[in-house]
Amino acid sequence: MKPDALTPDLSFSQPYFTELPQLVSKTQPQGIGASRWLAWSDDAAALLGGLTPTASLLEQCAGNQLLDNGLGHYFAQVYSGHQFGGYSPQLGDGRAMIVGNLNTPQGAYEMSLKGAGTTPYSRHGDGRAVLRSSLREFLASEAMHHLGVATTRALAVVGSDLPVWRESRETAAITVRLARSHIRFGHFEYVTHTRQSKPQLQALLDFTIRQHFPELSGDAAGYKAWFAQVVERTALMIAKWQAYGFTHGVMNTDNMSILGETLDYGPFGFLDTYQESFVCNHSDSEGRYSFVRQPAVALWNLQRLAQALVPIIPSDDLVAGLDSFERLLVDHYVAIMTTRLGITPQETRADLGLISALMLALEENRLDYTNTMRQFSVVSPKDQQAPWQDDCVSAQVMKDWFNAYRRRLADVGDIDDWQAQRRQTNPKFILRNYLAQEAIEAAESGHPQAVAELLSVLQRPFDEQPGQEHYAQAAPNWAQGLVLSCSS
Ligand code: AMP
Ligand code: MG
Repeated sequence: MKPDALTPDLSFSQPYFTELPQLVSKTQPQGIGASRWLAWSDDAAALLGGLTPTASLLEQCAGNQLLDNGLGHYFAQVYSGHQFGGYSPQLGDGRAMIVGNLNTPQGAYEMSLKGAGTTPYSRHGDGRAVLRSSLREFLASEAMHHLGVATTRALAVVGSDLPVWRESRETAAITVRLARSHIRFGHFEYVTHTRQSKPQLQALLDFTIRQHFPELSGDAAGYKAWFAQVVERTALMIAKWQAYGFTHGVMNTDNMSILGETLDYGPFGFLDTYQESFVCNHSDSEGRYSFVRQPAVALWNLQRLAQALVPIIPSDDLVAGLDSFERLLVDHYVAIMTTRLGITPQETRADLGLISALMLALEENRLDYTNTMRQFSVVSPKDQQAPWQDDCVSAQVMKDWFNAYRRRLADVGDIDDWQAQRRQTNPKFILRNYLAQEAIEAAESGHPQAVAELLSVLQRPFDEQPGQEHYAQAAPNWAQGLVLSCSS
């Protein structure tokens, strides 16, 4: 029987599979059986021309039926990567299968099914994903997108009663992920270090530029400009992570997108109280991927990418790109944070000093990061002290900071406009771990509506949303500093 087309208006194409045959393996999904929708993003569906959650789409997302992608199979990409500092010569999609590129008027989105069974790269894994981790990825990617952070998207999560064993018995789920590309830094490391094939490196690089950086030329000047863009996109992504308090948790080079999109959500976490040394990943005992280390790790990862490109791109061009990382990161971070504070940027070093002093004062006072920053929307230049001053145990440090800040506030113009702008840059709603946890528990007990409700709040993080204040509450004691394991 011929599989159903997704919608009459959408067509699949398979550029990665057809142009880079040495870097893929054919796969067939192993369905999770009788399934139900656990989550659906209308907003992501709108990218695909308003796709709707039909019964046949449910069967396809559950891997029980093939989507009509023109191939008669799906595929997995091979890559490698530096994991916690050490090189793993062969990784690859161990459970995420790529269906193909969906061509929309806004360009192509690659669709993949994460948790659809084993592939040639599964090693000892079962190719499955559990409900808990799938819903976390779904909620995080949609929340990050609405915060304005570049990220892969999630269309839906489907689940079934199929048992999956982790620390205990859980149930299977599949996330339908959409990304402009799933190419990772690790793809380049694989062709250079593991395959040691310059022609394959050349093919991968030319493909990446042709598909995703079409404005660039395929010559030496184009390569140099391309690497500079990868550095800049990565710097911008990390600046936003640091600005909004997002910790990825597993910043291995196989989890770094070549497009600078947040990719592969595992044990991620948003800061509750401001804490530089926050480590969200239970398995990261040395704190390699702590919140404060993310900028340095991103640079380290870019250095690994550069190393993989040496056979084709002159070292001087790579070094020039790497050298721009710190300045780009700081510039982007300071631009976001001065907007959040409502001050006009002056000298970068001085601005960064003011911002860092606030972070220290927040940390010393154990204040909730997001909720304190949101209060900049009620600050007025006439205030003698910060609206949150009474919550400070280390009072002087905050008083000193606020005095320094007031000197920078100067003329804010129309105060209502100024405060409205602060609301547009300091989110009220973020995906706190405890919120994700509560929604997951509801979904596990048969009430996925809780996921939909949380999603709808996270789709408007900067709006007041009267009646939804409880979603903006700081973490209860049981959930402060919740850490998660890698197992998913
Ligand atoms: P991650 O830490 O989730 O980025 O995964 C690292 C590698 O392990 C990737 O190549 C994954 O595809 C693979 N992997 C993770 N979980 C599983 C699983 N349950 N089955 C097979 N492969 C997996
Ligand atoms: Mg990964």
